[in-house]
Amino acid sequence: MTAQEILARLRALGERDVPTQGGRTLSYVYDSGLAEADELGRSALGMYAGTNGLDPTAFPSLLAMENDLVAMAGGLLGAPAGFVGSVTSGGTESILLAVLAARDAHGATEAQRAAPSMVLPTTSHAAFHKAAHYFGVRPVFVDVDPDSHRADADAMAAAIDDTTILLVGSAPSYAHGVIDPIPAIAALGRERGIRVHVDACIGGWLLPFLDDAPPWHFAVDGVSSISVDLHKYGYTPKGVSILLHRDAALRRSHFFAAADWPGYTMLNTTMQSTKSGGPLAAAWAVSRFIGIDGYRDLARVARRATLDLAHVIAAEPLGLSVVAEPDSTLLALAASPDAGFDVFTLADEMHSRGWLLSPQLPFRGGPASVHLSLCAATAARLPELLEVLRASVAAARATGPVSVDPAIGAAVSQLDPAHLDDATFDVLLAMAGLGGSAGLPERMAQINALLAVAEPALREALLLAFIDRLARPQEL
Ligand SMILES: *Cc1c(COP(=O)(O)O)cnc(C)c1O
Repeated sequence: MTAQEILARLRALGERDVPTQGGRTLSYVYDSGLAEADELGRSALGMYAGTNGLDPTAFPSLLAMENDLVAMAGGLLGAPAGFVGSVTSGGTESILLAVLAARDAHGATEAQRAAPSMVLPTTSHAAFHKAAHYFGVRPVFVDVDPDSHRADADAMAAAIDDTTILLVGSAPSYAHGVIDPIPAIAALGRERGIRVHVDACIGGWLLPFLDDAPPWHFAVDGVSSISVDLHKYGYTPKGVSILLHRDAALRRSHFFAAADWPGYTMLNTTMQSTKSGGPLAAAWAVSRFIGIDGYRDLARVARRATLDLAHVIAAEPLGLSVVAEPDSTLLALAASPDAGFDVFTLADEMHSRGWLLSPQLPFRGGPASVHLSLCAATAARLPELLEVLRASVAAARATGPVSVDPAIGAAVSQLDPAHLDDATFDVLLAMAGLGGSAGLPERMAQINALLAVAEPALREALLLAFIDRLARPQEL
């Protein structure tokens, strides 16, 4: 194939993807709506794609850009003199490193070293589950306040013991978009001498520009580290997050060096070793281009649209409700009990009209919902979003709610995922509409309805079996 044919093929392959621009994709991608910023980001990404952050002495440009970006982040997040930061590949990596640094902290007690644990709200991002799994840190989950969906600091206090290495709060939480009571959590950390990580992956580049955010960053004494993703509300290309620490001593335990082999001495500040400088250069370029004033405008526009949308949801008889009053630009919408439709069908209807909302399965007594992260480009289309939402609600009502055969539901809720073999998974996946070589299903409502009656462990097992079958080599 010629280069031209290959490029045409790449374009064709992307045709079924959700659009990354235009503001109609309300999770996974974030669009500033600034064409010039996007173009600049892509140029910088390409310009530095082949560089390697493995060795800052070979690529001093990357070290300079990293320090620059960290300085900007520190300025936004109230960091005190002496703060440090590391640029990572994304929010998950930042969180993994925050947990690792806490686990391996110099001065950990015998109990903390022997059986480390962390205390975190049940609404914490799934990346903490991954960190717990990777690093052998026992997660102690604490239920949040059932009305506000914010962390319950008193309950967290009661869950702390002599093995606790870390306390966690979100600003805001992904699923409900609310900010945890960071001052109360940070006070606990200070009193007990335990690190406090604030997960501001999604809010960290947005909340500093809003007037009505409660205190949540380094200005709160006791906050040890903060994660903030540039590839969300920094509106930069994918692959950049920052993990900030209040001081250099807190960070040191996530660094890694290996000299005891015959090659170069491997010296890594983050999890990756060879790492492209492209995403870092793109973030450096876009963040300078948009700048503080630009980000302030974008944040306010997105916040205004979020409040307006929440207002319409409350005022119109759509059969929808906002799960929690939004503290930022994220909304979770649930169907009212008498709505006559379900949110999974609503998401399918929206998708067929070109809008992506992401379904959230029922969790710990809470309802199923759909998640919306509103960005600046979405704000410009708010009237269109409302129109499509009304039409989708009407269509979902006409279809009626999806239901799971009670016998199947009962059978599924009895299954123990630890004891299922591949053949059983094949049967279950076929039942769920995820079987065979059908590839990706068009409509997800039936599948989500079935997942919704399964326990989280079974959801995980089923979806892992699904991705295992999808991720197989094929002729393109
Ligand atoms: C997105 C997000 C993460 C994880 O970030 P990735 O970049 O997807 O790895 C963690 N926490 C919160 C609150 C997030 O929104």
